[in-house]
Amino acid sequence: MTTLTIDQNKYVCQTGESVLDALLRENVNLAFACKKGTCHSCMIRSTNVTPPQSAQSGLKNTLINQNYFLACQCYPEQDMHLKLPDQSDFYRMGTVVTNELLNRNTILLIIAFEDAFEFNAGQFVNLQRSDGLTRSYSIANVPQQSNTLEFHIRRLPGGKFSEWLHDEVSVGDSIAVSEPGGHCFYLPERHEQGILLVGTGTGLAPLAGILTDALAQGHTGPIHLFHGSREVEDLYRINEMHQLAEQHPNFNYTPCLSGTKIPDGFVMGRVNDIVFSQFTDLKGWRVFLCGHPDMVNQMKKQAFLKGAAIADIYADAFLVAQH
Ligand SMILES: Cc1cc2nc3c(=O)[nH]c(=O)nc-3n(C[C@H](O)[C@H](O)[C@H](O)COP(=O)(O)OP(=O)(O)OC[C@H]3O[C@@H](n4cnc5c(N)ncnc54)[C@H](O)[C@@H]3O)c2cc1C
Repeated sequence: MTTLTIDQNKYVCQTGESVLDALLRENVNLAFACKKGTCHSCMIRSTNVTPPQSAQSGLKNTLINQNYFLACQCYPEQDMHLKLPDQSDFYRMGTVVTNELLNRNTILLIIAFEDAFEFNAGQFVNLQRSDGLTRSYSIANVPQQSNTLEFHIRRLPGGKFSEWLHDEVSVGDSIAVSEPGGHCFYLPERHEQGILLVGTGTGLAPLAGILTDALAQGHTGPIHLFHGSREVEDLYRINEMHQLAEQHPNFNYTPCLSGTKIPDGFVMGRVNDIVFSQFTDLKGWRVFLCGHPDMVNQMKKQAFLKGAAIADIYADAFLVAQH
């Protein structure tokens, strides 16, 4: 058992309990989402001791040097004095300039900033509501002069954040946006390498950014995009992807449906089965997997077993926030 001190207040952290769980149990208002060390929304700072190394995994050196750590990954070995970050430490305000439907349950949300927002296409940010509710969303566009970020957000029935974005957020509203995170992005090297992009649902968001970036940077190797959902109404950007495939002979697009009604031009089946019915050897390929965690985790293993190097497999599982 250790003691956590914030300002003058002391909280008990039980053995085997993370700092985040201890603080939430004590009703401390701290932002969090995935609780798996991915989203970084629960980052806080130790002001007395160096945090355990495992709680700083994936943080930038500048943050590590200031003793920032992820509360959800920290099982303290000694008493800690903590400083909760101010929102302005990691968040900046943007203005919603577009909120419109892409399909029956997905919106296109565009947020504009006064100054340039630096990111790599395919990274994600955390969006935060004024009450502190925080969720991660992938960036769907490439950096551009208009200083905007584009998101594809699926309505999850009963989902706190997605329903708020769908139903209550309007053009002109302000929203807090974190710095970008994640390593799922295109690097302009090995231009002739094959690229395999596989996504379900709004997993298309980061893949669209990566695809646009790779084409703009003159990637010459084959690029295959497989986008899957259950019903055709849940896919989107179908025509745009077909047009892109017409413009770029090295780009190939396969929309996949796992339901029973399969219109012409769509392939029937689960996206991973379809991919591996067409690709038996992924040696030398760069693979990007985004969307439903089950699909991503399964395909990660399968891609490795089919020969893709671990360093060439980039994955963003859309983990659900833990309550
Ligand atoms: C790195 C990353 C990137 C992401 N990018 C995107 C993105 O680009 N677009 C996007 O739409 N989402 C994305 N997500 C998911 C997003 O962060 C939220 O988890 C999602 O919007 C649901 O949040 P919510 O508050 O609406 O639902 P919550 O209130 O968090 O969930 C409500 C309930 O629904 C359950 N639930 C959650 N997901 C499902 C599901 N798929 N099916 C059935 N039940 C479910 C939960 O267990 C919970 O009980 C991403 C997640 C991560 C980690």
